[in-house]
Amino acid sequence: MSTVNTPMQPAMTEAITDRMSTFDHEQVVFCQDKATGLKSIIAIHDTTLGPAVGGTRMWAYASEADALTDVLRLSRGMTYKSALAGLNIGGGKAVIIGDARTQKNEALLRRFGKFVDTLGGQYITAEDVGMSTQDMEYIKMSTDHVVGLPPYMDGGGDPSPVTAYGVYMGMKAAIKHQTGSESLAGKKVVVQGVGHVGEYLVAHLVKENAEVFIADIYEDRIKAVVKEYGVKAIDAKEVYSHPMDIYSPCALGATVNDDTLSQLTCSIICGAANNQLANESIHGKAVMDKGILYAPDYLVNAGGIINCYWEIIGYSQEAALSQAEKIYTTMQNALVKSASEKIPTYLAANLMAEERIAAIANINKKF
Ligand code: NAD
Repeated sequence: MSTVNTPMQPAMTEAITDRMSTFDHEQVVFCQDKATGLKSIIAIHDTTLGPAVGGTRMWAYASEADALTDVLRLSRGMTYKSALAGLNIGGGKAVIIGDARTQKNEALLRRFGKFVDTLGGQYITAEDVGMSTQDMEYIKMSTDHVVGLPPYMDGGGDPSPVTAYGVYMGMKAAIKHQTGSESLAGKKVVVQGVGHVGEYLVAHLVKENAEVFIADIYEDRIKAVVKEYGVKAIDAKEVYSHPMDIYSPCALGATVNDDTLSQLTCSIICGAANNQLANESIHGKAVMDKGILYAPDYLVNAGGIINCYWEIIGYSQEAALSQAEKIYTTMQNALVKSASEKIPTYLAANLMAEERIAAIANINKKF
């Protein structure tokens, strides 16, 4: 049998614990298994609010150091996202080092499930890049600490409708803050990426008579969405320079950067993609200086983790959607804090998450 908590060279241990202390991670666990080829890291960032929940990413990282960097960054992000969404769960994430197209199979996933199980529920896994609902079914064969299962296994299924609804709520709060009206009717919205979340978002926007423009790198996606909703397609290269009121990134991260900021004419950025700011501190301030209202991505795209949360406590899509509706109020609160303290919106959101965690940590200490 393979090793869990692989012993490390003393020098490496020191370097890793140093890195863990940067953002105060609680636990980082490594696993390798020769028989299945599994190489995996689970990072638990913070369990003040509850067990750490976050997806597993399978990616062909260039090095183990890169995989560690990613899992530390992503797990911390989950702590903030869940805290801000008002959920009673902490932040964690797992990575499997390898190519999901060629190295993923049932045995590897079931072995990974055993790895998750060794943490006794302190970490609950779910889908992320390179993983599917089918993969969660295999993991479930080895552990109960997995969500993102299909409805026939009492799971929440595809979280995208809930994610899209949360983004839509965030967008309405943003326009209300700017114009005094929460109506999106007549507003020009560019949705970049019409995959799972993007398409559901387009449906909400069209229903409200927004003027929607879509871009995608796949012609079949563009054709399907244009046909279904009667929206206009634009070239993927013209996304940033296209005249618009709202830019909604629903494809990739890091699309708000020096290059795109010089082209964007919108007054609001609000979309589902994770890590939209190429550099949080630089571009978070740059958007503010440019007079653009940036809806922090992890605040408005929390629908996915909300869906997972309801799967843990007993799934109901109605309940998950109701909770996602609260993103409207959370967005309003972040905008008020940002304006009153004259700080970028991402920072206001970070502070709100930290304040909630600190307050609950205080209760935990006392009782
Ligand atoms: P998806 O893969 O279903 O859709 C992404 C779409 O973007 C695809 O159609 C793809 O062709 C398109 N795309 C890729 N590169 C592009 C480019 N350069 N220009 C235009 N289009 C491009 O993914 P999804 O589940 O819809 O998620 C979208 C984003 O939201 C991702 O960044 C994801 O991490 C994030 N997110 C998703 C959820 C969820 O519930 N699915 C939750 C939180 C965050």
